[in-house]
Amino acid sequence: MKVLFATPEARPLVKTGGLADVSGALPAALREIGLDCRLLLPGYHPVIAGVVNARERLRLNDLPGYGAVRLLEGQMPDTGVPVYVIDYPWHYQRDGGPYQDASGRDYPDNAWRFALLSRIAALISAPDTPLAWRPDVLHCNDWQTGLAPAYLHFAGGGAPSLMTIHNLAYQGIFPPDLVVPLGLPAASFQVEGVEYYGNFSFLKAGLYYADWISTVSPSYAREIQQSPLGMGMEGLLASRRDRLTGILNGIDMADWNPSSDLHLPCEYSSRALAGKRRCKLALQQDLNLEIQPETPLFGVISRLTYQKGIDWVAAIADRLVAAGAQLVILGKGEAHLEQACHDIAARHPGRVASIIGYDEGLSHRIEAGADVFLMPSRFEPCGLNQMYSQRYGTIPVVFATGGLKDTVEDGVTGFVFTEASPEGLWGAIQRALTVFQDKPAWRRMMLAGMQKDFSWEASANQYAWLYRLLVLTRSGNDIV
Ligand code: ADP
Repeated sequence: MKVLFATPEARPLVKTGGLADVSGALPAALREIGLDCRLLLPGYHPVIAGVVNARERLRLNDLPGYGAVRLLEGQMPDTGVPVYVIDYPWHYQRDGGPYQDASGRDYPDNAWRFALLSRIAALISAPDTPLAWRPDVLHCNDWQTGLAPAYLHFAGGGAPSLMTIHNLAYQGIFPPDLVVPLGLPAASFQVEGVEYYGNFSFLKAGLYYADWISTVSPSYAREIQQSPLGMGMEGLLASRRDRLTGILNGIDMADWNPSSDLHLPCEYSSRALAGKRRCKLALQQDLNLEIQPETPLFGVISRLTYQKGIDWVAAIADRLVAAGAQLVILGKGEAHLEQACHDIAARHPGRVASIIGYDEGLSHRIEAGADVFLMPSRFEPCGLNQMYSQRYGTIPVVFATGGLKDTVEDGVTGFVFTEASPEGLWGAIQRALTVFQDKPAWRRMMLAGMQKDFSWEASANQYAWLYRLLVLTRSGNDIV
């Protein structure tokens, strides 16, 4: 089974969110179980610099709308997964992030940049692929690759495609007058096509033309068939529900392993928990919190956006401190939420620390040093930190949505609340504070979380099953 995994970001080369973690880990897990999965990535600076043994595989001299484009082939630095890289410096080698310039503004030509990624994905997956290697399945990820199934459709076929939604909030919306310049027929701009409330949506294209759709948890797969979480796509998703599957993400069990984590001042495991206490004291010291081993320490690591319920955390922060707890927030995002986090810390020196920024090492030290992890996302396709938390013996408090609901067992490995408000969050925190006083009960919850298997293997097996189904369905065989 040959799978082309087209994605705009992949760890460790380029990351803005959970999609990069998935793209770094899932292809490797698929190869472990015998599939020939290869990545396709845009050639941003860090990708060109970081891919191992990169060499030219293909040169397209006149791709309509683009001109000369090179395709390199190499391997991912840590896993050795084969990767094709689109070398088109004009679009990809820029100062700033993958989608935005250094000042946080979307690049004005993002439609062209990610249409190119989709275009190359479709080209490799077409029956007349210019490569010797032709995938059996094209696996697309998020709006940046959404045009690929449409290109394949209008080119008359090719490998069956799977469109995975990692976050439906990002829909790749552009003006309708780009449909034709980007190589799609004018007639595709309709409800039964790429049109989305008068605009042109790359994600809609993928959801409409892909052979199958998946998303990253079974609960989110159900939630997006209705308003509000369907975010305008609910009609289409509900109509395709017999081809919509939820497969939970795994986590990188080697990267996130408290017994071998080089970011930590001290290792620990479910059999030897003492090190966790030392991690807590070191964290309190590093962040200028009062050094108190018995004080419940709450952690947040998050993009600071509305989705993540950071405003609910801000609303209960004073109560949390009044109840005798400490709080650490690591995050980056919307200016007003950054300010809110900053203000909480300023009000409570020694009790609350807010670190505005992106810091991978510190994120590991918070997971290890905290007692409780707060993740009150209003919606969460899958979420990773609640799984990291359980693995690190840090009890998650989560809202009952999407992947949070599917991975945290209320009262067993964490606390799940159902009322979407600061009061709902506060109720769950009070339950956590009560159990925290009961040491044996708390320890039981920690161990229950630490012993859960969140490895990629289970997910990889489900994707492999889905790929086989796609190939069988396409070749007209009966499904048994
Ligand atoms: P999303 O993809 O919506 O941001 P996920 O929970 O799926 O949410 O994944 C977020 C990933 O990014 C996790 O690996 C998390 O630890 C990491 N992360 C988010 N914010 C920060 C930050 N400020 N510093 C370090 N890591 C962060």
